[in-house]
Amino acid sequence: MVLRIFKYPERVLEQPGEPVTEFDADLRKLVADMFETTYASKGIGLAAPQVGVSKRIIVIDLSLGKDPAQKLVLINPEVILTEGKQYEEEGCLSFPDIREKVVRAAKVRIRAQDENGKWFEMDGEELLARAFQHEIDHLDGIVFIFRMSALKRNLTLRKIRKMQREGTW
Ligand SMILES: [Zn+2]
Repeated sequence: MVLRIFKYPERVLEQPGEPVTEFDADLRKLVADMFETTYASKGIGLAAPQVGVSKRIIVIDLSLGKDPAQKLVLINPEVILTEGKQYEEEGCLSFPDIREKVVRAAKVRIRAQDENGKWFEMDGEELLARAFQHEIDHLDGIVFIFRMSALKRNLTLRKIRKMQREGTW
C-alpha cells in the first residue's frame, strides 16, 4: 500500500521517533508499505516519520526497486563512526522539488537492527553514506533544511512559503 508522505512543516517531521521494541507482522507490513511508497515516489530512502509514524524505522534502496539485494531495512539505527566530508545535492520526499547541497560525512558506519531484531553493522560511503545520515536525521526530528547554511535555508523556506501561497506545496 502506498502511504501518504507528510510534507514539511507537518509536526511529525520534527518529533524524534520512538525506538521499535516489537518485531512483528505489523512492523513487516509497515516496512513493505514504506518500500512501496518510496518506489512510487522515485525516492531512494524513507523514514517512518515521513509517513506519519513516529518510530525509528528506515528503508533505503539505491537501485530504486531494480535490485532486491540493495533493499536495506534499518530499525533503531545509529551512526557509530564518521570520516571525512562531502558536499553534494540532496532532495527529500517531504520537500518536493527542493534540492540543495548539504555537508555530510564522506563515510559512515551504522549499527541497526533488521526486521527480526538482529543487530548488524554496515559501512556506507558517497550516496549511501548520505542516505544513512539524511534518514537517521529524520528519526531525530531533523529535516535537511537544518543542515543547510542559514542563507540557503532562508531561501528554501521562502520558496516553500511562496509555493504554499500558490497552492502548489
Ligand atoms: Zn528526507
